[in-house]
Formats: sequence, C-alpha cells, structure tokens
Amino acid sequence: MSLVTNEELDEALGRVQSLLFNAERDGCDYPQIEAARKVLIPLRMKLNQPPPPKPEPVKQLTQLDIAKQSGFTGDICVNQQCQSMSMVRNGTCLKCMDCGTENGCS
Ligand SMILES: [Zn+2]
Repeated sequence: MSLVTNEELDEALGRVQSLLFNAERDGCDYPQIEAARKVLIPLRMKLNQPPPPKPEPVKQLTQLDIAKQSGFTGDICVNQQCQSMSMVRNGTCLKCMDCGTENGCS
C-alpha cells in the first residue's frame, strides 16, 4: 500500500491549479475550470490544516535511550552507591551529574 503524503498531494494540486490558470489565461474556455477550482480550493485548505495527532509510539524507550536523548553519554556511573546514567563528557573524562564522580579519564 502506498500512501501519498500531504506534501505530494499539495504539490500535485499546485500543478493542477497552475495548469488551470494557464488555460484560463490563454483564453481556453474549459467548462471544467470552475468546477475544478471548487474542488481544489477546499482541498488545499484542508491540507493546510495541521495533521491529526499521531498515536503514541509503540517502542518503549529504554533508560539508555532516555539518557542519550537528555544529552548524556549513556554510560553508568562507577560509584556503586550512585550507578546513575547521568554521565556527561568532561574533557577526557566522564563526569556523573548526580554525584560528581569522574571516570574514564585517559
Ligand atoms: Zn554518580
């Protein structure tokens, strides 16, 4: 099944509209022109409306995904009491934003 995106549809409608415009400008008396416009205009207005909200993504984010999305490296703090995933790059080290422990310095 192939879906046409709003952008593709909008582009196609734009092309049809310009064809109709040219036909009108050149004095071609197509009785379809007005009828086509009546169909096109509400359709374009409909396209310009924001799309309906998307359903929640099925994929469950792991702790690692969340940590990386938050700008953390995804490493786990070496401090046994902490073990936070809130590790950030700090020069050549990794630094825990929760307890301040640094590790991985090279
Ligand atoms: Zn820590």
